[in-house]
Amino acid sequence: MFAIRIHETGGVEKLRAEEISMPAPGLGEVRFRVEAAGLNFIDTYKRSGLYAVPLPHTLGQEASGVVTAVGAGVTEFRVGDRVASASAAGTYAAETIAPAAQVVSVPASVSSQLAAAVMLQGLTAHYLACDTFPLKAGDTALVHAAAGGVGLLLVQIARKRGARVLATTGTAAKAALAREAGAEAVCIYTREDFAAAARAFTGGRGVDVVFDGVGRTTFEGSLASLRPRGLLASFGNASGAVPPFAPLLLSQKGSLFFTRPTLAHYIATPAELRSRAADLFAWIADGALRVSIGATYPLAQAAEAHRALEGRATTGKVLLLP
Ligand code: NDP
Repeated sequence: MFAIRIHETGGVEKLRAEEISMPAPGLGEVRFRVEAAGLNFIDTYKRSGLYAVPLPHTLGQEASGVVTAVGAGVTEFRVGDRVASASAAGTYAAETIAPAAQVVSVPASVSSQLAAAVMLQGLTAHYLACDTFPLKAGDTALVHAAAGGVGLLLVQIARKRGARVLATTGTAAKAALAREAGAEAVCIYTREDFAAAARAFTGGRGVDVVFDGVGRTTFEGSLASLRPRGLLASFGNASGAVPPFAPLLLSQKGSLFFTRPTLAHYIATPAELRSRAADLFAWIADGALRVSIGATYPLAQAAEAHRALEGRATTGKVLLLP
């Protein structure tokens, strides 16, 4: 079957289109035909070597599609079911395999493209706003890269929980998208001081929480944006990894809390995964969550999609279609 793989880490030129064989699903596994694969920043980290993976490696971990085979011990899925996962082993491919415990059923009310679009970034936005910092009415949140995949969903979920959102984006066009998603104010952080904007947004106090998926370039400003005892949820490295720092810094900046969460620990059990996914699917069906698919690429053009994502040229979700 067709797949996009890397044999060594590096730039987008390392992506190779290949024919590979597809194994039968093992114990507790589900195999499904990919109808839409999600592009995520983590795919670029695995390609570049920032996150180590065994090689050769079929890229991609998020997809939706139709079950083609189930392994021994799988009772909850059958051939023909519509499913999705954020934890599959290689979704830049015609078919993929995931542990059944990391697969969800897709309701008829949600298209396969929308399902693929919210598994990884949507579950992330869900856990950040509902559990890492359970936002409540009146809380103030700074959401970086708010026109991105996680960003547009996180702004909406934060608003849904009653929080006031200050967003950052790289351009004015992206700022308009963040406002449409519900941001009360937007700072174009490529030319304005977002920590000053956070102070202005909160009458000088600082925001309760910063959701920072940008990493290296925003780390210091994020700390400076928080109120005393506020929380920095540093969940990504789009601009590079945050360098090591001394815990004393958190004391100096206001007895701050710092966490570096990752999705796997917030969907570790099937019950937690399915409860988050059920929320997302219900919100999509009732119109409470608008999923913006900013672009789709044929799977064979995955390299162009990576280039666009790393070049800050995308908004919302990017899908790869086999
Ligand atoms: P996005 O769609 O948000 O794309 C990344 C955005 O980051 C860009 O569009 C850009 O927006 C901004 N950015 C700022 N500086 C840079 C830079 N130097 N290079 C590239 N982009 C930059 O991606 P995702 O939604 O897929 O992911 C967002 C972040 O969330 C990533 O760091 C990702 O790793 C992380 N993540 C973490 C998870 C977790 O559980 N920990 C799970 C899912 C994602 P702008 O132009 O507006 O600045």
